[in-house]
Amino acid sequence: MHHPKADIDRLYVKRKGGGRGPVQVKMAYKVEITNIAEYLNTNYKVDQFVNIVKSSESTQPTMNSIIKIATKITEELCQPNEKSDAKQEGIQHTKARLGEVLKNKWKNKVMCGQYIRNIDRQLISEEDMFLWLSKGDLKEETESESVAAQDQALQTKYYATKILNTETDSKCRLCQQFDETIDHIISACPILAKEQYISRHDRVSAQLHFNICTETGAQLDKNHWYKHVPKSVETSQGGKVTILGNQQVPINRTIPSNKPDIIIRDNKKRTCMLIDVTISGDRNVIKKEAEKILKYEDLTIEIQRMWNVKTKVIPVIIGATGTILKSFRKYLSNIPGNNEVKELQKTAILGTAHTLQKVLT
Ligand SMILES: [Zn+2]
Repeated sequence: MHHPKADIDRLYVKRKGGGRGPVQVKMAYKVEITNIAEYLNTNYKVDQFVNIVKSSESTQPTMNSIIKIATKITEELCQPNEKSDAKQEGIQHTKARLGEVLKNKWKNKVMCGQYIRNIDRQLISEEDMFLWLSKGDLKEETESESVAAQDQALQTKYYATKILNTETDSKCRLCQQFDETIDHIISACPILAKEQYISRHDRVSAQLHFNICTETGAQLDKNHWYKHVPKSVETSQGGKVTILGNQQVPINRTIPSNKPDIIIRDNKKRTCMLIDVTISGDRNVIKKEAEKILKYEDLTIEIQRMWNVKTKVIPVIIGATGTILKSFRKYLSNIPGNNEVKELQKTAILGTAHTLQKVLT
């Protein structure tokens, strides 16, 4: 299902690139035309029937001639100096170029391309950030709503005022303070921060906590993470590992940030992990990761000193519509348990979709 307001070109971009899959008819047509033209051009010498077709072709007006249309398509796609190479590389090349052209078209649209343009290719994992779309099993409505949200195409008051001209007030219907953009609703509204964002955050945190407890052999009351409520202290069988959930670390001196979401203290290996989850606005994921490391710097030093354990901070940062950094996988691999990128992404996105539904309908 395609959201009526989501970008139409994006629909045809490959799923792993953030699109929604189906082969665009126009694109398939162009690829086929180029393919046939190539066949005619290379086989006319050895096959007399091909030769007849090719001769007949050359007398046709452009609209009816496969070879002429194919030449036009190739010219549209190629820079002048690349033309001869492109012809050699044939169909695969054309297909790839068409995919690129489509992606660029989507990228360059003022509203809809905002999301993809804003991602920093150096740091953000392009492969993983659309994992929820390529491998996830979200309900179709949720999927199309999230795609529309990334495209900034849901009918917010900002959209209605600035794009559709159907409203005059662009301020948020809840806080009345800021422009009601998608970004505002999914990550920056002070009213939604009180409950909606917290519960979205807590779901991801509970999921991690459940996986950690399962892996380390701590006793659990529930069989599924979504029913799991993290306890303040869990201990693994034999007391090797202590897991603190949302607990303040008792420290003598005042440290502003001393309550990460999860602390795993391995008493045998003498290591400690401070895990903190943030579901942020998608354009803030880079900033948030750096903030987390800094935020717990003091606590890290203090814990190392007090408990005499090697301590590290593990930031778990997911954009509200699924953006993750390249470093995400590495951090996640440090956390005990079967923590899958797409599962955590899915939980964050479900929370976001829930918020959007609540506010916009
Ligand atoms: Zn607001």
